[in-house]
Amino acid sequence: MDNPNEQSRMDKIVSLAKRRGFIFQSSEIYGGLNGFWDYGPLGVALKRNLKECWWQDMVAGHDELATLPGAGSPYEMTGLDCTIIMHPQVWKCSGHFDLFHDWLVDCRESKRRYRYDHLQGRFATYRAKRVFIVSDQSGEEAVADSEAKALKFFGVRPKNSDEIQWQEGGLVPLARCIADGTVALAEALGPAATEPGTLTPPREFNLMFETRIGALAGGDDDRAFLRPETAQGIFMNFKNVLDTSRVRVPFGIGQIGKSFRNEITPRNFTFRSREFEQMEIEFFCKPDESAAWYRFWRDRRWNWYLSLGLTAGKLQLREHAADELSHYSVGTADIEYAFPFLATGEFGELEGIAHRGDFDLRSHSEGKLVRKDGALVVELGADGKPRHRGSGKDLSYFDDVTRERYIPHVIEPSAGADRAVLAFLCDAYHEDEVPDEDGKARSRTVLKLHPRLAPIKVAILPLVKKDGMPEVAIALYRSLKTQLACMYDEKGSIGRRYARQDEAGTPWCLTIDGQTLADQTVTLRDRDSLTQIRLPLNECVSALRTRLQES
Ligand code: ATP
Repeated sequence: MDNPNEQSRMDKIVSLAKRRGFIFQSSEIYGGLNGFWDYGPLGVALKRNLKECWWQDMVAGHDELATLPGAGSPYEMTGLDCTIIMHPQVWKCSGHFDLFHDWLVDCRESKRRYRYDHLQGRFATYRAKRVFIVSDQSGEEAVADSEAKALKFFGVRPKNSDEIQWQEGGLVPLARCIADGTVALAEALGPAATEPGTLTPPREFNLMFETRIGALAGGDDDRAFLRPETAQGIFMNFKNVLDTSRVRVPFGIGQIGKSFRNEITPRNFTFRSREFEQMEIEFFCKPDESAAWYRFWRDRRWNWYLSLGLTAGKLQLREHAADELSHYSVGTADIEYAFPFLATGEFGELEGIAHRGDFDLRSHSEGKLVRKDGALVVELGADGKPRHRGSGKDLSYFDDVTRERYIPHVIEPSAGADRAVLAFLCDAYHEDEVPDEDGKARSRTVLKLHPRLAPIKVAILPLVKKDGMPEVAIALYRSLKTQLACMYDEKGSIGRRYARQDEAGTPWCLTIDGQTLADQTVTLRDRDSLTQIRLPLNECVSALRTRLQES
């Protein structure tokens, strides 16, 4: 983090999230559990709204007569809800069993654990003593961190810091230096160590959580895994969906659900959690149309974030370079957001859109595939047999109009619900000034959430707790409650009540005042423009519905 303003902005967002009941640390009264988060009363509503928008916009509300521009074939969308624990063979054929790991290093002295690819460093020399200072930070923060560590290690005062000589070229990844032999682990000073040589050699760490099935757990056959992605459940049911619904290729299946990854270093609030929710689509199409569908989904998903108000300038679409692609992927693009906890110019992944080719359906049919000389072939074990057996089931598609049979290609837009909630929260957070009741400027914190996402759509506020105003307000609240998420609040001055709603992201407030009793109109206050207009009481429901639809 090289921008202290952004860091303090992030601290404020985290504190607002807790104070207003959006997000709490899991098991907090026992000291919390790293990498696990609970959603409070406002947070659960925000997250449900987000998932509902995704489901509505991508699955339920999809126009089934819509076509891929230029291709002509209408496409359908349908949904699934699969289990978290699946047959262990699923993960063997998907590649997760062998390949879903990170490299970790432990520090023998501090007992801390690090992701190998998150460590970087550089040599510092002072009076003929040389050490490779390692940091687990990123960007400018890593530079400052390594400088502070060097002062401490050599016992040099800050005013004499220029007596320390630094290797040219800035910080370099530790993994690269170890691999090319320019650094030995014995020379590396771990991020929380006082002496060099305490970091262990890197070792593989599978990110899947393991569990046992059945009461007599023991043998290897009972071993099962919590899914690290929801996608595989969709492949498991590809044939079931084809056989039981009227869908024809091209079509997509959407699923929202929990996934689990035993992340080595969960951090940055909910961004990297160990339990999180994904919103995934597997879109099945004809191989020769797959490149066009890939572009279609990449653009469609990009536009979805914009349609819900994410600031375009903070979003980035990044196509992966060939050497970055997963073992199965023909092309992948990430939609990334400039989260405030990242250094200026850095972006964090919100969603990946991957062209998976026919890898998954073929692997689950024939056995786990590997790429050899550019082609996907069944991986063989030492005995010459498939290393991981497939189901043996035919997962091809027969087009009864063209009489063609083929294994569909898959485009996978895979989004994280928690990361999206975090991005929308960060993007919505604003501090500005508003005139208070006396016309004086008052600073306010406001969440400018899109009305579709806002946990509460409208607050009903009697101006004072007397003169019959609460009665009218309660009647209005009851008539609105069945239609929209709304709340009633009569506590405190009207200014404070507006401020509370601004912090919760409520787009509209309806205030019942003296004039309401005379002419049956109420004040509608808009959170962002702060305009106030008068509306007839009996038009409130339709006026708010229209506003919500048009937002
Ligand atoms: P990263 O590189 O950040 O670990 P990834 O590339 O492994 O992410 P994918 O496997 O593509 O992520 O998962 C799809 C989406 O699921 C991500 O874009 C993200 O929104 C979400 N996601 C993945 N891992 C986590 C996590 N540990 N915590 C929260 N969300 C996650």
